[in-house]
Amino acid sequence: MKTEIIIVGAGHGGLVAATKLARSGFQVVVFEKSERNKLSWNWKDCLDLEVFERINLSRPKPFEYETPANFRFFSPNEKNYIDTDVPPEEREKSMERRLLMEKLLMHALDAGVDFYFNREVSGPLLEGNKICGIKVGEEHHYADLIIDSAGFNSPIRPNLPSEYEITSNLADGDYIYAYRGYFNKKQNKRFWDIIIGYKNKRGISWLNTSSKDEADILIGSVHPFEEGEIEALVHDLRIKYPVVGTELLRGGQVELIPIRRSLEKFVGDNYAAVGDVACMTNPINGSGITRSMIAGDILAHNVIKARKNAHNTYTTSILWPYQVEYFREIGAKQGYIEVMKNFLISIDDFSKIDFLFKNKLLAPNDIITNLMGKELNLGVGEMLWRGFRGMKRGDILIELAHTINTADKVKKHYLNIPHYYDRHKFLKWKKQLERYVVKN
Ligand SMILES: Cc1cc2nc3c(=O)[nH]c(=O)nc-3n(C[C@H](O)[C@H](O)[C@H](O)COP(=O)(O)OP(=O)(O)OC[C@H]3O[C@@H](n4cnc5c(N)ncnc54)[C@H](O)[C@@H]3O)c2cc1C
Repeated sequence: MKTEIIIVGAGHGGLVAATKLARSGFQVVVFEKSERNKLSWNWKDCLDLEVFERINLSRPKPFEYETPANFRFFSPNEKNYIDTDVPPEEREKSMERRLLMEKLLMHALDAGVDFYFNREVSGPLLEGNKICGIKVGEEHHYADLIIDSAGFNSPIRPNLPSEYEITSNLADGDYIYAYRGYFNKKQNKRFWDIIIGYKNKRGISWLNTSSKDEADILIGSVHPFEEGEIEALVHDLRIKYPVVGTELLRGGQVELIPIRRSLEKFVGDNYAAVGDVACMTNPINGSGITRSMIAGDILAHNVIKARKNAHNTYTTSILWPYQVEYFREIGAKQGYIEVMKNFLISIDDFSKIDFLFKNKLLAPNDIITNLMGKELNLGVGEMLWRGFRGMKRGDILIELAHTINTADKVKKHYLNIPHYYDRHKFLKWKKQLERYVVKN
């Protein structure tokens, strides 16, 4: 089969791009390994509902989503905490993932996208050193452009020829093992506690009791779990929080989430990646739904623009503006957040985080600002006051100041990505980025 555009995996960004492209007259085919009614996970996740407007899909009705409780962040010793106080209208909303997928799928079908469900893609088809299609079992399917939206375990990105200069395998610490389980709720309480470095594991864990009947547990660790470890950690949480019952209602598995800056390069000849496969998640909390959807919109916009300019082949240079636009809107902030995340969860001495929390050297607004990737603009008075409170551990203050400074540099560097694709300029840009972010 030959078509104009193949989308590998019905991920969020892939479906958004597929819809927009099909509406513009492109022939678009999606290959998805799951069944039609089993797309994505059977649990709720948070997203920014503004994104629906952007993709021209009607906003979910109020009964289709919930407003979760505000976050309370705990430091690793679980004694010190910081409460956030975001007004309900500004909080992200929590929605059943399968309902969201159904909406995106119907939108795509309505636009004329063709779907093949239960079809697992096994790898790229190559012509010389360029991708020209995909393999599905014994079948070969060809396309002018292959959009990789297959999530963390994509069969395409790691198998691209080295000439693409796209990262094939993520380094340890660039992704997190996330256990998710929904248990029955035994008390009528409503809170969302997030613990950094729970039980001294490098990662973030939470107990979210925002829903009426379910206690949602997430345990995230940059190291794989050992046998019996999850059960022990859930048991500990149950002792600390009697609201958590013993009946597992849904979930109960471990999934992988990227928690790093977006890939330095995620386009190549006839290829563009979107979503988790390109590491488009927030490095602190792992959220990637809204970001993937925005990226899908940017990608489709640029492909449509390319055709209007009479470009019929999708070279790296033609697809490059997608990457530049993504960095400007999201990727630069994501780079900032990665540096802050490395400071918060990758250090070995958790007492530093305890000290920052205890002495209120981190404030609620800092955490929210960090999650959004904005710079921390502290006035001179506030800086002096925090310096005074942190005097006992000047080393930590210096480290924090250095981290914020590096985060700013990384953000600016992402914004300075070469506007047009020039391999040498790109490699120089990437090398400088790695100087800021990669620790030896
Ligand atoms: C426990 C957990 C909690 C999370 N909570 C949140 C949250 O609250 N908010 C948020 O924004 N994000 C959250 N995320 C992250 C979020 O899931 C992703 O960022 C988001 O799903 C975007 O991923 P994607 O669309 O790129 O890929 P995916 O959602 O992984 O979709 C990939 C699709 O490709 C298909 N596929 C894979 N391989 C193949 C193949 N070989 N052939 C054909 N099809 C294939 C899959 O079946 C799937 O349908 C969470 C993730 C986890 C694991």
